[in-house]
Amino acid sequence: MTGRRVIVTGVPGVGKTTVVNGALKMLEDEGVTYKSLNFGTYMFEVAKKEGVVSDRDEMRKLDREVQKRLQKEAARAMARESGNVLIDTHASVKTPRGYLPGLPEWVLRELMPDTIVLVETDEDQILMRRLSDETRTRDMEGSKGIAEHQQFNRSIGASYAMITGCTIRMVTNADHLLEQAIGDMASVLR
Ligand code: AMP
Ligand code: MG
Repeated sequence: MTGRRVIVTGVPGVGKTTVVNGALKMLEDEGVTYKSLNFGTYMFEVAKKEGVVSDRDEMRKLDREVQKRLQKEAARAMARESGNVLIDTHASVKTPRGYLPGLPEWVLRELMPDTIVLVETDEDQILMRRLSDETRTRDMEGSKGIAEHQQFNRSIGASYAMITGCTIRMVTNADHLLEQAIGDMASVLR
């Protein structure tokens, strides 16, 4: 038994990283530890070395085949980690050519998650969070587009469960209720 593998997903700006960090801190006090990996960072390290991008938010604009190659390399590298592993990533990536699956079959077979978490909230809240985040280059998108993206993520999440037999868990990260989201995330990881 190599430990648990949990994949955490959510549209940009939903607050995945904040919820994950809060939950990991909570669990640390209980002696439960996870190695936290960021899929985008693994891809970005390779992309930077190859000189194809200089900003992580440029990756989703790259040629689809290039994105898929980076994705495959990232999955292969993360699959080598043992123990409890948490992977911060996306169920799907909104590219200029349409939704790119974040966990296509060949990625899932490398990672074989026990659980996939979908972090969600109201599309209007996500829109406001994106507008106030100056650290990232977020795409201009209205709340309808965000709602569509979240809906698509639920659909594709079902197909990920079909391939791996993993469980799917929704965690709501609503405004003013971060502590609740952190508690829910911790209960998934515990
Ligand atoms: P993030 O910091 O989580 O927003 O990720 C940065 C970028 O990494 C995303 O905008 C995507 O271009 C890329 N990325 C992250 N996870 C995946 C994935 N599973 N498949 C394809 N691209 C990904
Ligand atoms: Mg993040």
